[in-house]
Amino acid sequence: MECPEKSYKCSGKGFGKSRTFSEIQAKIKAGKAVVLTAEEVASRVRAGEKVEFEDVDVITTATRGIMSGTYAVLSFKVAEPDNFIRASEVSLNGIPAVVGPCPNERLGILDLIVLGTARSKTDPRYGGGHLLRELVEGKTISVAVKPAASETSPASAPFSIKTSLSEMPFARLYATRHAFKNYKAFVNPGKEALNTIFHVLPFKGDFQEMTFCGCGALNPLENDPHLESIGIGTRVLINGAEGFVTGYGTRSSKNNPNLAGFAELRNMEPEYMGGFVSSEGPEIINTWAVPLPILNPGMLENILKLDKEIPLQLVDLAGRTPLCEISYGDVWDEADLRVRYEPKACLECKSCELLRLCPMEAIKKTKTGKIKHIRSLCFNCGLCVSRCRGGAFKAKLGSVHCLIEGSLKDIQVTLRQSDRARAQKAAKELKNKVLSGEFRIKEAVEKIKFD
Ligand code: SF4
Ligand code: SF4
Repeated sequence: MECPEKSYKCSGKGFGKSRTFSEIQAKIKAGKAVVLTAEEVASRVRAGEKVEFEDVDVITTATRGIMSGTYAVLSFKVAEPDNFIRASEVSLNGIPAVVGPCPNERLGILDLIVLGTARSKTDPRYGGGHLLRELVEGKTISVAVKPAASETSPASAPFSIKTSLSEMPFARLYATRHAFKNYKAFVNPGKEALNTIFHVLPFKGDFQEMTFCGCGALNPLENDPHLESIGIGTRVLINGAEGFVTGYGTRSSKNNPNLAGFAELRNMEPEYMGGFVSSEGPEIINTWAVPLPILNPGMLENILKLDKEIPLQLVDLAGRTPLCEISYGDVWDEADLRVRYEPKACLECKSCELLRLCPMEAIKKTKTGKIKHIRSLCFNCGLCVSRCRGGAFKAKLGSVHCLIEGSLKDIQVTLRQSDRARAQKAAKELKNKVLSGEFRIKEAVEKIKFD
C-alpha cells in the first residue's frame, strides 16, 4: 500500500491495517482485548515506550467540568386526577421549572424542564446543578405548584408537595453542549474586576490571575477529533450512568466540536455531578467517560499526543479575544490534580472565609469548631489554596508565561474549572466496566457531520 501522507498512518507497524467494531466487541467478549485509559497511554508515551496499533484495542477517555448546556426532563404525579386543570408555575426547592411541553390536562401529573443553570428565587448559591445532584443523592425535594385558570373556571389554590427521584417515573438528563474538545484559558486585562462564570470570585484585572477549562489529553474529542469512533448512538457514561450521544451540541464546529446526549438521572453517581457557585451565579458540573475503539492506526496519531502538544488558547475574558497560545502541558504537567487539606496547618481563624467561598461547599466546620474538607464534594478547583490564611489547603496550580503585546507576563493559575482527578477516575471505571462486560461498546448508527 502506498503511503498517502507523512504521518503516523504511514509509519506505524499497523499501516494498512484496520479493525471493525464487531471484531473489537468479539475480542472483549473473549477476554482478549487490551483496554487502556488515555492516561495509561500517555504514561507509556512519557516513559519512552512506543505504542502501536497492535498494542491497544480500546482507550477510555473522560472529562469533568462545568457544562452549562444541561437540562433535565422530569415527569411525576403531584395530585389525584381532576384536582387542577394544569400548572402555570412550578418550582422545585425554589428553582423555577419550565412547565410542559405536555400539559397533562386534569391528570395531576407534571412534565417539567429544569435548566442546569436555573437559579433559586431565594438562595443565590443554589441552582439546577445542586437540585439534580440532590435528587440523585435520594434527597426529598419540595415542589410548589401554581395551577392555571381556564376560560371557564378560576385557578385552584397553589399547593406544594414533597417528592424524590424514586417517585418520578421519568427523569432524564439531556446535554445540549457537553464535553467540548477542551476549551480556553482566561485572563482579565482590564482594570476592573469582573463577575463571570469562569471564576468563583470577581476576576482580578491587570493579568493578575488565570483560570482555565479542559482535561487536556484525557478529553474524548481531543482523542477522536475526526469523530471516527464517536458518532450518533455511541454508548457513553454521563455522570456514571449509561447514556448515548445524539449528535453535536450548540456552538459546535468542525475544529471545535462538543457533544449532545442523554442519560437517566436515576443511574447517575452524585460524585460526578453537582452545582458550582461562580461569581455570576450557580453553574452545573457534569462528567463524561467515552470509550474509543481504535479502528485504524491513524486514530493513534491523536491518542498518543501528550498535554504539551495540545494547544490551549489564552483569551481576554471580555470578548474572548485571543492573547497568546499555551498548552495543556503548561497547566497540567507539573500541577497537583488533587487539593489536600492539612489540618495541622489550620490557624483556626476566627472567621474562615473558605466556608463561604468554596464553590462546592466542600469546606465545613465541625461541631467542635474544626475545619473539615469533604473530599466527595471537592472539585479540586484550587481556589482555597490561594485564599487559606494558614496554607492548610495545598496543591501546586502553577503559572504560565505569555508574551502579550510584546511584554512577557508570568500569570498565576488561581482556579481550574475542570477536575482532571475525577475525569481520571471516570476513565478508569469505564475501562473496568468494558473489561468486565458490564459496559458494552456500541457502534454509532450515523456519523456526526458538520456542513
Ligand atoms: S482560612 Fe485556612 S487557616 Fe484559617 S480557618 Fe480557614 S482553613 Fe484554617
Ligand atoms: S479545591 Fe478547595 S475551594 Fe475548590 S472545591 Fe475543593 S475545597 Fe472547595
